[in-house]
Amino acid sequence: MSDCDDDHSSNISAAEPHDACQQLRAITVLGATGSIGKSTLDVVARHPQKYRVYALSAHSRVDELFALCERFNPEVAVVADEDGAHKLLKLCTKKGLSVEVRHGPDALNEIASAAAVDTVVAAIVGAAGLMSTLAAAKAGKRLLLANKESLVMSGQLLMSAAKDAGALILPVDSEHNAIFQSLPETPDGVNTRGIVKILLTASGGPLRNCTVEQLSVVTAQQALKHPNWSMGPKISIDSATLMNKGLEVIEACQLFSVSADTIEVVVHPESIIHSMVSYEDGSVLAQMGRPDMRTPIAHCLAWPERIQSGVEPLNFFDLAGLHFEKPDTSRFPLLRLAFEAQRAGGTAPTILNAANEIAVEAFLSGSVAFLQLSQVVEETLSRSKISPAVDLTTIIDADKNARETATNLINSGVA
Ligand code: NAD
Ligand code: MG
Repeated sequence: MSDCDDDHSSNISAAEPHDACQQLRAITVLGATGSIGKSTLDVVARHPQKYRVYALSAHSRVDELFALCERFNPEVAVVADEDGAHKLLKLCTKKGLSVEVRHGPDALNEIASAAAVDTVVAAIVGAAGLMSTLAAAKAGKRLLLANKESLVMSGQLLMSAAKDAGALILPVDSEHNAIFQSLPETPDGVNTRGIVKILLTASGGPLRNCTVEQLSVVTAQQALKHPNWSMGPKISIDSATLMNKGLEVIEACQLFSVSADTIEVVVHPESIIHSMVSYEDGSVLAQMGRPDMRTPIAHCLAWPERIQSGVEPLNFFDLAGLHFEKPDTSRFPLLRLAFEAQRAGGTAPTILNAANEIAVEAFLSGSVAFLQLSQVVEETLSRSKISPAVDLTTIIDADKNARETATNLINSGVA
């Protein structure tokens, strides 16, 4: 990949066509109105000489998407449905913006794979992000992956689609970005030679010190209050249950081709070390920084270069201390279930993810209690047939069936 967007003009010989190097990298942000989408655009806005926004998508927050269209002037904007598209088009026309407005899943796939796009930021939440993430991988894009659920659902498929098409997957998730930064790079990519363990850090979430009795009465509002990170509602609940870490264990296995046995979760409440890699010679490499997603996003946008992200460097003299503890899977069983699903393989991670999405929605709407979240997932897994995840149809079927099972369990009060 040519790196025309850097500042090292002295590296460009006079014989090279300057035009090519003056081109801006065109970006599609899927899920632009979300927490990751906004952080991405914050970084992009700092580097108008390097990036231009080709397309933005949002689900239902049309007003917010319109504000982003005004600010970033994309060529295309995508929303979920026709009504939203009409509203957005009207707003854009009134302001004289020439944005092509589209709607629906096919439009998402198009902006993820359009020839004009270089970089796709996959920041839709949940399984809804699967098809557009896959589309970007199949189109050989530089894929900045935040949507961990797509990798959990379709790990092998997504990784091999990317490999076949020459797509470069760069992990936005802070832990995976930290691991990526802590692994040696070779001309063929990162390698895992000499690794003893990947130490995946977890803040422990807002309920880390709660007893089981306290967990039994936790409200959505309490569970949403993450101590260190500001994130969307789904991942915030996943952080409170430790399911986020479970999904990240599976994500790490897929991204770095390691087994679940290579991964150890370390609770580190300060969220300063974003993960570590332990090597057989005794070295442990860590990546540190403030808990601000603009750091991993900027790393992925610019890799292998570095750009400013707007995040202040750490001041070590301000740190009271760094602490580490083992995760408690008796109070937070979803972490154990995720390890088990990864070891079971096939469609087990897809089923785990689907049941969890249904359970989290139900928890947010008040129809299940906090401790029932893991029960819904465990019971769905035990009632589901696990098949080899050979193709997309198998994965989509497993996802659909698990959603039905989890919904029935919730409706019938079994879980
Ligand atoms: P969010 O809820 O803040 O934003 C989600 C975005 O997806 C929004 O733009 C929304 O419009 C869009 N969206 C929602 N449902 C959709 C649907 N059905 N179809 C199309 N678009 C839809 O979520 P977030 O916190 O930004 O997280 C996004 C993804 O990034 C998740 O997979 C999450 O696990 C991952 N991630 C987030 C963080 C973080 O700090 N927020 C960190 C690491 C990874
Ligand atoms: Mg993370």
